[in-house]
Amino acid sequence: MTVNSAVNGAPGGYPPDGAQARRARELLRQERQTRIAQLAVLEHEEDGTSEGFLARRESLQGTLEEIDAALGRLDAGTYGMCEDCGEPVPAGRLEILPYARRCVQCQQRRR
Ligand SMILES: [Zn+2]
Repeated sequence: MTVNSAVNGAPGGYPPDGAQARRARELLRQERQTRIAQLAVLEHEEDGTSEGFLARRESLQGTLEEIDAALGRLDAGTYGMCEDCGEPVPAGRLEILPYARRCVQCQQRRR
């Protein structure tokens, strides 16, 4: 049970119109632009068949998918909540990794 869900009945994440959600959206937008720019540079410079190129492109595309998924969670009001344990993901973690799905403990358990 999180503070948010106890107070206003929200699913437990950031309320979609709150200041925290706006901040997260901003971070995700920046992150998205950075990845798209990196992808463009990569496709421009690299030999499209090398293993390194494919791995880097896949990693960037995977991150973009995570960013889009995080934006979806923001709209749904579930952003900021760990997918595994349901506890709030610390704001400091989301500041560094705005598309994080899980708290550090749950993420480490998956490795
Ligand atoms: Zn967790």
